[in-house]
Amino acid sequence: MTDTLNTVPFVSVDNMMRLVLKVGIETFLGELSAYIEEDFARWDRFDKTPRVASHSRDGVIELMPTSDGTLYGFKYVNGHPKNMREGRQTVTAFGVLADVGNGYPMLLSEMTILTALRTAATSAVAAKHLAPQKARTMALIGNGAQAEFQALAFKALLGVDRVRLHDIDPSATRKCIRNLAGRGIEMLHAASAQDAVEGAEIVTTVTADKQYATILTDNMVGEGIHINAVGGDCPGKTELHPDILRRAAIFVEYPPQTRIEGEIQQLAADHPVTELSDVVAGRATGRSDPRQITLFDSVGFAIEDFSALRYVRDKLRDTGLYEDLDLLADPDEPRDLFGMLLRCEARLQAAE
Ligand code: NAD
Repeated sequence: MTDTLNTVPFVSVDNMMRLVLKVGIETFLGELSAYIEEDFARWDRFDKTPRVASHSRDGVIELMPTSDGTLYGFKYVNGHPKNMREGRQTVTAFGVLADVGNGYPMLLSEMTILTALRTAATSAVAAKHLAPQKARTMALIGNGAQAEFQALAFKALLGVDRVRLHDIDPSATRKCIRNLAGRGIEMLHAASAQDAVEGAEIVTTVTADKQYATILTDNMVGEGIHINAVGGDCPGKTELHPDILRRAAIFVEYPPQTRIEGEIQQLAADHPVTELSDVVAGRATGRSDPRQITLFDSVGFAIEDFSALRYVRDKLRDTGLYEDLDLLADPDEPRDLFGMLLRCEARLQAAE
């Protein structure tokens, strides 16, 4: 009797990069955003829970599970702003998609790159419904690992082709401008956040600092602006002055999680917000007035990762960009797990 190998497709960082390059990053962002919109439109079908966070002095480690009844997905992700100064990523992640019917994993994937893509795609989906029509200029404040993905998603989905960049570290902005060169985006290196928001119809904040930061103050936000606030995503880690929140129409992913982690942690627990899924599904209005300030208080929700894993899995069939991982013990006789160990021992002894 031979114990069969039950393998699980594994997408490494290398294969994820090959996949993104093969598909083309803007096409990838466009297709991924369609998967996200599809899942946002069937929001009620999902198990939802605020992510399980383990906080420490320097950061957080989180587990993000969800299921639509057919598939189950989870992501492991960290957020450590100090990592960047030590030559590491602020955010790293991996995730699993599994079959609800038998509980077996169907995909294991790197999700550091995939998180940057899904975060940017979700931001652009929100902006499609919330940003002023025909917006072309975006301020991009915080020019770290997520920044280029954000710029490209807004270009691919909304046609934003002018980006005003700012970071407290000018070398981060120079890196961003270098990386985005030749992609049809006109870029300006702004000396301050105030300068960056000048003339911008969309303002993306994507900074990392473990504090109540004030990247934008009330006087910097004019009528009709859409704010895509990405960097405030933990208790005690926000980017916007609370006065901005009081003037804005606020859109969130999953209120029970965003009230703990998002910009709105600074507001009363019953401050009105609209779920982005309701806007995507047509149950709620997005931008209702050209003078309205809209805010997408992004923290990142499990269903976006589920959509991303679903998309990657569908892409593997045609591209073959994965390895088979020997992850599941699968003895021919299911109850004979110990016997499988003994047969392995016998094989190893025979080989000596
Ligand atoms: P990063 O460390 O690579 O980059 C952060 C950048 O912010 C750095 O270049 C830093 O110099 C800059 N910065 C810090 N304080 C600033 C300030 N006051 N003004 C201007 N720039 C400032 O981090 P990253 O991977 O790009 O992530 C950025 C943020 O986005 C993090 O806070 C992360 O937790 C968050 N994030 C959110 C989601 C989501 O779904 N909402 C997903 C991924 C990451």
